[in-house]
Amino acid sequence: MPSLATDVVFKLNNGKTIPALGLGTVSATDPRDVKDQVITAVKAGYRHIDTAWYYGTEKYIGEALKELFDEGIVKREELFITTKVWPSFWHSPEKSVDQSLQDLGLDYVDLVLQHWPVALHGDENGQPPAPKDKDGNLIYDDDPATGTKFIETYNKLEDLVEHTTKVKSIGISNYSIPKYRTLLPHIKKHKPVVNQIEYHPQLPQQELVEYFQNQGILIAAYSPVGSDGAPVVKLPLIQKLAEKYGVSTNEIADAYHILQGRIVLPRSSNLQRIKSIIGLPQLTKEELDELYQIGAQNPKRYITDEWGYGIGFKWWTGDTLSKVFD
Ligand code: NDP
Repeated sequence: MPSLATDVVFKLNNGKTIPALGLGTVSATDPRDVKDQVITAVKAGYRHIDTAWYYGTEKYIGEALKELFDEGIVKREELFITTKVWPSFWHSPEKSVDQSLQDLGLDYVDLVLQHWPVALHGDENGQPPAPKDKDGNLIYDDDPATGTKFIETYNKLEDLVEHTTKVKSIGISNYSIPKYRTLLPHIKKHKPVVNQIEYHPQLPQQELVEYFQNQGILIAAYSPVGSDGAPVVKLPLIQKLAEKYGVSTNEIADAYHILQGRIVLPRSSNLQRIKSIIGLPQLTKEELDELYQIGAQNPKRYITDEWGYGIGFKWWTGDTLSKVFD
């Protein structure tokens, strides 16, 4: 393995490649700050940017890309850009992609993911992203547990990759095994290349990960340090390994994925942190196993959005994973 995470590239099941380290672009502060985060990351060697219509940051990523292209720092074809279609756009994913392309200032994206496999009641512009009734409950266009409209979205994404030049590859996000088993017989031609899920040593989900890896679908790990507050960097084993290898705790958290063939998507509003977390410590197999053990018995999930895991843990995750929420 190379000594820099920015030098690692994985092969997708359609023959294309994806850089292992991608910059996350959710903004917890001012979305305009993402412009400098992207410029800093690309100058430091990142070649993969992970975004989504839902994040509201694509316009600022577009500004960053324009500057990077105009200054000749990087060429479009050297970057891998992922966007996502939000569930309130389930009926018209092409419109969502068009909006993302316009904001990003691009002719194509490298990867489009179905953000969550549910259908929220949005209008033709995906508004509102989180529709609520008068009692404050989310409004779905079909039953989030048993509905199949999410399959229509995936099939429309297949049409995009098959019949347009706007999208190079398609994938999924927040899919459990039962959800994928429901989709599988309906895939026309284009298998997802990636399933993007929450993943860190406190949430190992071995069964889910092995299932998708056996399907030839790469796992992309979001919230690699457990999202806001970064609980994962405070784990004693992560701190011990950081000291042993002379790297940051973030680099240990990222290496946990990259060394095991998973994409990782860290996010930071701290430009110094973005620049400095690109080392790839060569953890041993025993150390990777030890990291896995942290969450094996008592898994902890940090992203518990209502449209996903908050609405029926068992059906969503499959029985074998329900202990995640005990
Ligand atoms: P991360 O796990 O990357 O956590 C980021 C947070 O941790 C920031 O608040 C950051 O603060 C803080 N942090 C990082 N390192 C440290 C440290 N050493 N000490 C203290 N604080 C630290 O979280 P995200 O949940 O944002 O996930 C990353 C990306 O994954 C997203 O940006 C998005 O692209 C993607 N994602 C996808 C989802 C999906 O549904 N497909 C859902 C969620 C995320 P600071 O800013 O100060 O560095």
